[in-house]
Parts: sequence; structure tokens; C-alpha cells
Amino acid sequence: MRKYLFAVVALLMALTAVAQAKYVFYFIGDGMGLGHINATEQYRRDVLKTPEPLLMLTFPYGTVATSYSASSPITDSAAAGTALSTGRKTRNSMVGMASDTTNVYSIASDFLKQGRAVGIVTSVAGDDATPAAFYAHAPERHMSREISGFAPRSGVQFFGAPMFRGMYDSKKNPTDWVERMKKAGYRLVHSAQEYLDGAREGEKTLMLAAKPQGEQLGYTLDAVDGALTLQEMTETALVNLSTDPDGFFMMVEGGNIDWAAHANDGASVIREILNFQNAIDVAYRFYLAHPDETLIVITADHDTGGMAVGRADNAKNPRLDLIALQKISKDRFADWCRDNYKDKAPTWEEMRSFLEQNLSLWQGIGITGEEEKVIRESFDATFITHRAKDQKTLYNDFNNFTVTLYDILNRHYGIGWTSPSHTSNFTPVYAVGAGAELFSAPMNNIDIPVKILKAAAVK
Ligand SMILES: [Zn+2]
Repeated sequence: MRKYLFAVVALLMALTAVAQAKYVFYFIGDGMGLGHINATEQYRRDVLKTPEPLLMLTFPYGTVATSYSASSPITDSAAAGTALSTGRKTRNSMVGMASDTTNVYSIASDFLKQGRAVGIVTSVAGDDATPAAFYAHAPERHMSREISGFAPRSGVQFFGAPMFRGMYDSKKNPTDWVERMKKAGYRLVHSAQEYLDGAREGEKTLMLAAKPQGEQLGYTLDAVDGALTLQEMTETALVNLSTDPDGFFMMVEGGNIDWAAHANDGASVIREILNFQNAIDVAYRFYLAHPDETLIVITADHDTGGMAVGRADNAKNPRLDLIALQKISKDRFADWCRDNYKDKAPTWEEMRSFLEQNLSLWQGIGITGEEEKVIRESFDATFITHRAKDQKTLYNDFNNFTVTLYDILNRHYGIGWTSPSHTSNFTPVYAVGAGAELFSAPMNNIDIPVKILKAAAVK
């Protein structure tokens, strides 16, 4: 009888034991709101016609989270990053600090204390707000020198980013930051192959882009052959971290989704989320090999731009298929204008031919008489009379001609925007794997890291 009782108890315990997440992937799509995901899924369904929905939409658990900060209903990436990394609300612009400026510590440090390896990967500067919230503390997100100064002694095993702002001083002269990372034991690599040639188990690694596009990897839409990608960094981080017998924690940020959304560049947002999915796919394949020990959580720090398919001046005929014709992002077009026409004006003919080739205007995209009139007026006001003012956004300034062109593109695509900044919209939360059931009910963003620790049985 006693033996029978023990067997029943053991069986019950086995049945009720919550699978423990030994390996944790935490994906943060910066600025990736529900409207952004929906537009990308719509593009996948109606244009790419691939059999499977977006990977994140196939996860068994999905819900929404609030993103307000301690100082505003509309958060910035620093406060949201701090909420997602530490489980604490703080004021906008603060990184790894509570509103009273005391340091608050991210779940990355909890995993480290438990002897698990930690990796931080992003497609934008490694000391930008979101990655910084996982290893640094600063009252102001732009304190790059102070923030990057935390990296050498952070205990993080793998850093992957196009660059760190702390690599340059305010006059753009190189600092000794990379040297300090090397002194702290980090091996610098620029590609997966370079990492594999000479990799040692559990080696501290700093992966940077050989040719970053400013402070980011570069948009997928503008993709430069051979450029480092978020997927390649995620794959390399996985090879590096998965040698740890105790497991690992990896945070991967799709940072330039936010940059494209600040620019209200619909085509670049959709292409960037599809690119983000390639990095998620790396984790998913690992999950399929270790389903009982792996947790993947996907979320966003906030919604940028209030993106939606359906707008007042094109409510009936959204044409996402046309985004495939866009060959240059809004940011790169603005830079191209600045680089080529700062001191002299383009002729209309040379501009028109550039637009035909790179945005397919008057080609794949039919331009109405009214649109042509608006484009010509903006061309004159921007390059001839210089009467038009630039639009200043968080990551770039756009001359009036650029704003006019990409608004017309968005109209043809059927994509609408409420702002060039953040909104207070709900953010998405998707989860699969060990403990994923914890991510099923609507929550506050500060709940997410707490639930990750619970799923991983990390105190
Ligand atoms: Zn932003």
C-alpha cells in the first residue's frame, strides 16, 4: 500500500512539475506595435503568400501589455527598457535606475548570479537605451560614455551590436573603449566565420559590424551585401552561450524597427520585422531541439508611430504589394539628398529619374496629376526657394521633399500613422516553451521580466 502511495505521489509531482526554462530568449522589437505586426502579417499573407503565419503569431501564448512609464503615459525606450529588464517603472530617459536615481538591476544580473551565461544582441548601438537597460545604470540615456563604461565589467559573455557610441568621444574621435573591452577579456570579431575561426568555449566575445550604417546595422530594405545581420549575431551568440552547462539568457533587440517607425517609413518597418523574424527563427530552431528547457518571449518596449493599414485618403484599396518596389529607405533617401544636394540643387530631370529607379514612381506606382503637382511644389520649396522647413524626428531630419514623397508612398500602400514619435498603445507579448503559460493574460510590462525569472526558476 505504502509503495503504491509513493508511486501515485511521484506521478502527481511529475505531472504538475512546471517545465523549467534553462535557456531563455528575450526578443524586444523596439517600437514594434500590434499595427506593425498586423501590417507585416498582411504583407506575408497577401503578397508573399508563404504557407506559415509570422512565427510569433504561431506561438501558443499571446497577450498584450501596457507600456506607460513613471513620468508619462507615453514611454521612451529607456524607461520601457528598464521596465522590461528590471520589472521596475522609472522616468523617461532613465536607464537601469529608479525614479529616485537608485540603481535597479536587470534580470540578466540574476541569471549571471545563478551561473548562467548572458548575451546581449541588438541591431542598433550597443549602448542605446534598450540594451543598456540590461547592463548599465544612468539617469540620462544619452550618457554613452558612462553607459558603455559598464560593459567591460558587466559579466556579459557575448555582446553583439553594429557599434557602441562609447567608441567615440563628442568630437567623433575614437576612445579607448574597445581596448578596455579587450583588456577585460573580450575577443573582438566582425563575423560568424571570424568567431568560429579560433573560438574557445565560454569565451567573452564582442561582435561588431565592420561597416555599420551610422549607429545601426542598416535597414534590410537598403541591405548591403555581406553586411552583418541580426540573424548572424544571434546565431553566433547562440554558439557562444550554448556551451554553458547551466544554461543561458539572451536578449535580442530589433532596434531599427523603431528608427523606421519614427521615420513613418512603412515599407522599411515591414521589411525590418521580417528581418527580425529571421533572428527569432534561430531561437525557434533551438527550441524545437530543446522544447522542455527553452523559453522564448517576444515583446516590444512601446509602439512607435501608431502604424495601421487603412487611412482616410485610402480606406478601400491598400496595396502592400507595392512596397516591394521601394528600393531605398526614407532615412537613406534623406541622407542621399544631404550628401548630394547640400550646396547645389538637383535638376528636376535628374531627381525624377532617381525616383523612377528607386521608388518606382510613375513606373510601378502610378502618380496622379494632383500628386505630381504636390511633388513639384515640394521640390521647388525644398531645393529652389528653400522655403520649406525640415521635419526633425528622433533619429533623423527630413527635408520637406522627402516627407512629401514617402507620405505619397504610404498613401498608395494604405499605411497610416498618428505620430513620428511613440504612442501609448498596448504592446504585444508572445511566448513558447517552458513556462510560456505564464504569458497568457493581459499584463503590465514590468510583469514580463518577473515571469521570465519564475519560468527559469531564478530567484
Ligand atoms: Zn523610439
